[in-house]
Order: sequence, then structure tokens, then C-alpha cells
Amino acid sequence: MAKVKKKKLKIKWKNFIIFIIIVFLLCFLLIKGTTTIYKFITTPKPEKEIKEEKKKEEKKDKDLDSEYKKLDYINKQIDYFREENLQRYLKYKESNSKLDNKQIVIDVNIGLDYPYYENAKESKHLNKDYILVNKYNYLTKDYVPNNLETISTTYARSGMKLVKDAKEAYEEMAKDAKKEGYTLIAMSSYRSYTYQVDLYNRYVKKDGKKAADTYSGRPGYSEHQTGLAIDVYNGAYDYTNFGKTKEFLWMQKNAHKYGFILRFPEGKEKETGYQYESWHYRYVGKKIAKEIYENDITLEEYHATHNIK
Ligand SMILES: [Zn+2]
Repeated sequence: MAKVKKKKLKIKWKNFIIFIIIVFLLCFLLIKGTTTIYKFITTPKPEKEIKEEKKKEEKKDKDLDSEYKKLDYINKQIDYFREENLQRYLKYKESNSKLDNKQIVIDVNIGLDYPYYENAKESKHLNKDYILVNKYNYLTKDYVPNNLETISTTYARSGMKLVKDAKEAYEEMAKDAKKEGYTLIAMSSYRSYTYQVDLYNRYVKKDGKKAADTYSGRPGYSEHQTGLAIDVYNGAYDYTNFGKTKEFLWMQKNAHKYGFILRFPEGKEKETGYQYESWHYRYVGKKIAKEIYENDITLEEYHATHNIK
């Protein structure tokens, strides 16, 4: 009996010693690990390394500064300088040295450093009054604006649709014009993507692609798809002669008061990418229309000089 007890006691002692050794080892590893990490965090970098990093940073700042300098520090004078476009501004300036720096920034912000239809992106601001659709900003095949409504046939050919706000503003404008003895009839307004496909193909067949591109939007690139654009005439002359009518003069004076702008003005062909169209108006809302009218700019320039999120 005594022998068995002794043996049991021996095993217990053995286990206890193994347990102590394991605990000791674990403690050792834990302490060692934490001190290594602590040392790694707290040990300062060698002076040489710090100096090199500082030098690199200084060089970067200096290079950046010399780039801003090439643009006469226009970045500090305007709030629509876009850092992400810096290299494009510099490149555009090289081939357009006569333009002032502000113009360089505006042109590049519009996208004019690329040929039309190149580097095009899907339009932002869907279903907003200020949406921009042009040769750099397109709508997808399935984009149909919200709240399309039919314009009263008193002021439009039958079946013409516009987005609610634009439709109401147009009817109010046409009504007020009528009171003063002027006739406005909408002959084209919202056009779907597929409608534009047919229209564009017809124009290409008739005049060739190059010519068609100057007066017709490619499918997805026509702002008629926004439901905010309208072509008008006076009910008598062909719409292409709208610029010669008294109605046109009335529109020149009054359209902006209702939130409309002449979208493709004379002398702004480069910015808009379209030849002058006296009949094509665009609803942008009263506030933006007023700013565009007063500053004699296009919707492209408005977007290029505002940071609209
Ligand atoms: Zn039009």
C-alpha cells in the first residue's frame, strides 16, 4: 500500500513540475514579445533614414510648387481649380500658350483637352435641373427622367413631353409671351434614347457623320433625353429661322426669368460642341438661368466653374 501511495505522489510532483515549466516558458515568451514590440515602436529611425525621407518630401513639394508656378499659382486665385486635373492643365497649356490660366482651367474642366466624345463619362446629377449632358457626359440607354408630363397643345405640337418643373415653367413662359402678342410652339422636347438612334442615323445618312455631329447629338449624348430641353418655333416660320423672329428677341430678354437658357449660343461652339441653335432652349431653374444669363456663359462653363457634388 505504502509503495502505491509513494508512486502516486511521485507522478503528482512530476505533473506539477511540468506545469511550472510551461507557465514559466509562457511568461518568458510574453515578456519577450511585448518588449520587442515596444522597442520596435519606440526606437527612433536612424537619422540617415529620416533625412532622406525629408529630402524626398521637400523635392516633391518643390516639384509641385514649380508646377503651380507654371500656372502662375492660379490654384490660389480660384476655387474651381481641380487638383486631379493638374497634369492635364499643364499639358493643355503647352499647346494653348495664348490662353490665360483661368481659361486653361475652365477648358480642361469642361473636357476640351480631349476631342469630343473621347474620355466621356456617364452624366452625374440625374434628375436634377442642372444635369449636364454634352459630348463628354452621356446618359445610358435606359435613362428615362422622372415626372415626364405632356405639354398643353396650346403651346406645343401634340404629344410633347417635359419633366414636370420644366413643363410648368415652359407653359407659364409661353402663356406670358402670348399675352404680349408672341407665339411659342414647342416642336420637339423629350426624346428617348431609341428615338435619338433613329434620328441620328437619319442625319448621318443624309449629311455624313462629321456634319451630323455638329447639329445632332449621338444617342445618349442628346440633352433632349433629359426631358429638360425644348425646340421652339413661332408657328409660322421654319424653326431654323427662329433667330430672325420677334419671338426670338422676346426669348433673349425673358427666357431666363422662367429658368430657361439659350443652350447653344453663337460664339460658344467650342464650349458646347454644337453650332448656334436659336431654337433650342434648356431648363436649368431660375437661379442658374439668371447666373448663366448675367455672365454670358454656357452650361458647360457653369459646371466648370462650380464644384457641384
Ligand atoms: Zn434641340
